[in-house]
Parts: sequence; C-alpha cells; structure tokens
Amino acid sequence: VTDKILISACFLGERVRYNGEAKPLVNVLIKEWQKQGRLIPVCPEVTSGLPVPRPPAEIDPVTKKVITIESVDVTEQFEKGAEIALRLCQQHNIRLALLKESSPSCGSNSVYDGTFSQQKIIGEGVTTKLLRANGIKVFSEASIAQLAAQIGCTNWQLKFFDKC
Ligand code: SF4
Repeated sequence: VTDKILISACFLGERVRYNGEAKPLVNVLIKEWQKQGRLIPVCPEVTSGLPVPRPPAEIDPVTKKVITIESVDVTEQFEKGAEIALRLCQQHNIRLALLKESSPSCGSNSVYDGTFSQQKIIGEGVTTKLLRANGIKVFSEASIAQLAAQIGCTNWQLKFFDKC
C-alpha cells in the first residue's frame, strides 16, 4: 500500500488562497507523488465554506481566536475546516501532511502574529494543530526532504524515485 499524503490545495495550483491565488510548489517530488496518486489535496478554509477571495485572517496569540482584518471572528469556520481535513486523513489512512507554512490553517512552525503587519511568530495553524493532536506528522515546503525521508525516499535529489 502506498502511503498517501495530505497536501495544501494551493500547493497544487488551486486558486484557493484568501487573495484568489495559488501557491504552486515546484518540486520533482510533487510531480512524482502526483503521478502516483499519492497526494490528497485539501484547502481547509474553502472546504469550511469560506469564499475565494476572502479577507485575510490571523490567529490572535492571546485568545487563539482567528480574526479577519475586518475584525470578524472566523474561528468556527477554521475549526470546521480542520475537522474536514482530519476526516479526509482518517478516510485515506493518512499519517503525513505537507502544508503551507505560516497560514493560520496550515502553518506548522510559524504563523502571523495577529497584527496584520507581516510579522511572524512561532506557532501552528488550526488544521495543523488538530492533525498533530491526532498523530499526523505535518511538514511544510521547507521540510519536504524530511517528509520524503519518512516514506524511505532519500535519493530523490539524484532523481531516483525507487522508494518514493
Ligand atoms: Fe492553502 Fe491552506 Fe490557505 Fe487553503 S488554507 S489556501 S490550503 S494555505
């Protein structure tokens, strides 16, 4: 059985970001994994029912609420999106995820600080937090090599995909 990997939909070119754009992740592994049918895309924010485009949102570091730049509390929607992502993992037996860094849903090492001034702090997004609490390992675009190593794929930089 090939391990499936949950992936931020914006990495695969889906125009689901708050600003209506994608964030394509160009990497040989992504191409290979896509060919193998390994990748299960999700955008927690859009699957929760939020529109595209939508006002940017950040996590308040004190209250942990997700608040838009227009001061609307969207915590509930973000939590719903996280639940949907978790269900998808459970359906596909997924234990690994590759999610976009710094997003209030998908961030795994950093998030914006809640002041909408492009300042990042250490933290994790709402979806990442729920996935990790359920034993799923979350990686970002910066740690794709570590993710690959999790499935025994170590020679991909030499274009050997035998174990990928
Ligand atoms: Fe991409 Fe995640 Fe933001 Fe959706 S919520 S646009 S998948 S970073």
